[in-house]
This record gives sequence, C-alpha cells and structure tokens, in this order.
Amino acid sequence: MPQRYLGTFIHAPALGQLEILHDHSLLVNDDGFIVEIRPADGVASSEDISETIVLPRGTFLCPTFVDTHLHAPQFIFLGNALDKPLMQWLENTYNAELKVDSDTEFARHVYGRLTQRLIEHGTSTSLLFGTIKTETKYVLTPASHGIRATVLLTASIAV
Ligand SMILES: [Zn+2]
Repeated sequence: MPQRYLGTFIHAPALGQLEILHDHSLLVNDDGFIVEIRPADGVASSEDISETIVLPRGTFLCPTFVDTHLHAPQFIFLGNALDKPLMQWLENTYNAELKVDSDTEFARHVYGRLTQRLIEHGTSTSLLFGTIKTETKYVLTPASHGIRATVLLTASIAV
C-alpha cells in the first residue's frame, strides 16, 4: 500500500525553474516511486494508504542530487591546486590515488568521509570510480552505504 506525505515539496520542473508546493500530498507506491502529487485539500482520507507522514512545519522535501561521474580517490585532493592546468592537476591526483591504494585503512577513511560529505550535500546516488586496485575498490563499495552507488574500476592506458 502506498505511503502519503503531507507538507511542502520543492522541485525544479525545468532548467531555471523552482516550484514550491505548500500544503500538498505526495503518494509513494510500494516500489518507492512517486505516483501522485496534488493539493492536500483534494485528498480523500478513505484511500488505501499504509501510512501518512506529516512533514513538520518549516520543513520540506526536495529531490536529491545524482552525481554521474565521481572519482572517489580524488576526494582527498578536493579543492587543491585549482590553479593548475588539468594534466598537472591529474598528476597530483594520481599520487593521491597511489596513497589510497597503498593503505586500505586510509582508503576506508577517505571513502567514508566522501560518503558522509555526499549525504550532507544532498547527493543520494552516484556513479563512483575507484582505483585500479581490486581490494581498494571493495573498500569503496561498503563505504558507499547510505547512498545508492555503482562502483566502477578506473583503468589507465599508457600511450
Ligand atoms: Zn572521469
């Protein structure tokens, strides 16, 4: 049976548009999909609903972000050397990736912090790129708990 959420919902129906829906009802089916959103005053209380959740006043629900391209080991290099040309920046990040691959506990710490940061900033889903080392990639997978993630292997080709 679906769940109903009552309250304020914010979404961006098109690029450059923001819509705030006060006093609305949002219906989520058993598969977790939103199947309906409409003004709450038009909702019949007799509908088959498993649970109604009323959002506290002053709060709202909004869609989360999806990061479709995230190099997880580069998280430790985030915000550094932004003035460097790309290839020079990548050389530095390569060293960071070597450090992640050389120490599994360090990798666990970095990926745990990365996941925490993603959640704090509203990202719920990500396509994560790990390093070439299989063991480190496996560390990344449990660290991605709390978000939906696909973990891929990063491979370099020397030319
Ligand atoms: Zn990339």
